[in-house]
Amino acid sequence: MFTSESNNNYFSTLEIRNNILEEGRECFTHWLSAEEGNGERNNYIQLSLKIFEKDSRILIHDNFHNIDIEVKFDNGVPVCILCNTYDCAHIGFAVCAEQNL
Ligand SMILES: [Zn+2]
Repeated sequence: MFTSESNNNYFSTLEIRNNILEEGRECFTHWLSAEEGNGERNNYIQLSLKIFEKDSRILIHDNFHNIDIEVKFDNGVPVCILCNTYDCAHIGFAVCAEQNL
């Protein structure tokens, strides 16, 4: 007997591969819609928001590596503490959070 509930098993994981701004934005968009979807599973998205302190700092959780990444806002300029850069995926995620939350 074959059961065909394949749709439920298809989660394309949203993974950071190049560590660029665009990937962070994409993670944020999916994370936000999963949040708004009342408890939809969102652990297929690599990044999720853990702590949000507007204009100050943001703590992002990496679900795939099980680490927290801090992004600080220094006079409005986001800096990723992990990557020590201004244009990684975490920055993209943090900037979207600032704009949308
Ligand atoms: Zn980073």
